[in-house]
Amino acid sequence: MIVILFGPPGAGKGTQAKLLSSYLASEHVSTGDLLRQHVRDGSALGEKAKSYMDKGELVPDELVTDMVSDYIQKLEKNKGFILDGYPRTYAQAESLTGLLKGMGRSIDAAFYFQTDKDVIVRRLSGRRICKKCGRIYHIETMPPKNDMRCDDCTIALEQRNDDKEATILNRLAVYLAQSTPVLDYYEKKALLKRISGNADAQSVFILLKDALAPSTKAAHNR
Ligand code: AMP
Repeated sequence: MIVILFGPPGAGKGTQAKLLSSYLASEHVSTGDLLRQHVRDGSALGEKAKSYMDKGELVPDELVTDMVSDYIQKLEKNKGFILDGYPRTYAQAESLTGLLKGMGRSIDAAFYFQTDKDVIVRRLSGRRICKKCGRIYHIETMPPKNDMRCDDCTIALEQRNDDKEATILNRLAVYLAQSTPVLDYYEKKALLKRISGNADAQSVFILLKDALAPSTKAAHNR
């Protein structure tokens, strides 16, 4: 299956994508993670992307689309994947449809996590990550066991540059301006399902699995 997780920054897409990819034994494709890896590696793409990311702006469509299309085409043939953070603009949505069509594949479902602004700001400003393994923590709701260190890697957790409050508000404004047409795009294709993203991760995952069930059945019957 090919599933899109869509919603504002802080809606919990990354957390839900990790849960869903292990539930469906699918690949988790996060454009944010891929871009951050390019920045860490100091690649040409990473150098171009960094200034946009630090300001909370979107990286230009053609850069992200080329990166995603390279990545997807290298995945095991017919393997399912969960897209987290892509597409984020109308042009990206159209590119993705074209890419999948060329591969004889199509999207099974797009989930939109509707999340309140105060929940988003609280989640993002308290989020800490392990830069080694990518595990996500929250200072209040999901703290690590020891002294702000990753439970698995033991290295010190960090706050993402774009999780500072001023950047969070900019990311939200960017999201509203550029990503709303993506909702309409999948709504018109009758692929969009709305879920409340306000509750804790496990409760949202139950809603996600329920909403996914008809698409899973349809995919099995194909
Ligand atoms: P995320 O981890 O999904 O919140 O993404 C972090 C940052 O990476 C975003 O604020 C953007 O600067 C960039 N980014 C991630 N995905 C995309 C995308 N599909 N299009 C453009 N920029 C992206």
